[in-house]
Amino acid sequence: MSRVLIVEDSPTMVQLLVFIIKKLRDVEIDTANDGANGLKKLSEGRYDLVLTDINMPLIDGLKFVSLLRNDRSNGNRDVPVIIITTEGEESIMEEGMKLGANSYITKPVNSQRVIETVRKFINA
Ligand SMILES: [Mg+2]
Repeated sequence: MSRVLIVEDSPTMVQLLVFIIKKLRDVEIDTANDGANGLKKLSEGRYDLVLTDINMPLIDGLKFVSLLRNDRSNGNRDVPVIIITTEGEESIMEEGMKLGANSYITKPVNSQRVIETVRKFINA
């Protein structure tokens, strides 16, 4: 069983990502509505993959990746992270990768691209 955490503030987007990722085998999905909530969940349970939005209240996606990668006390510090950026925001994508994200997908999300990218990191 692979545990995937989706960090995203838009309920519509969460719904869409859950719908897509649920098609994979042996995947358990958890969600957090912003970076602060995401970090809290990552400090508590075991996760195999994180997908995170960039624009979120309190702690945005870039700050979230940066804080996670630098938190030595977090057992999920090295968990693979896929950032979700908006098409045309290459500089944000590059910044995210520099901060420690492992891959990215762009909005509007393409179901096939989400599946392919997720499968690079978990057996599903
Ligand atoms: Mg957002």
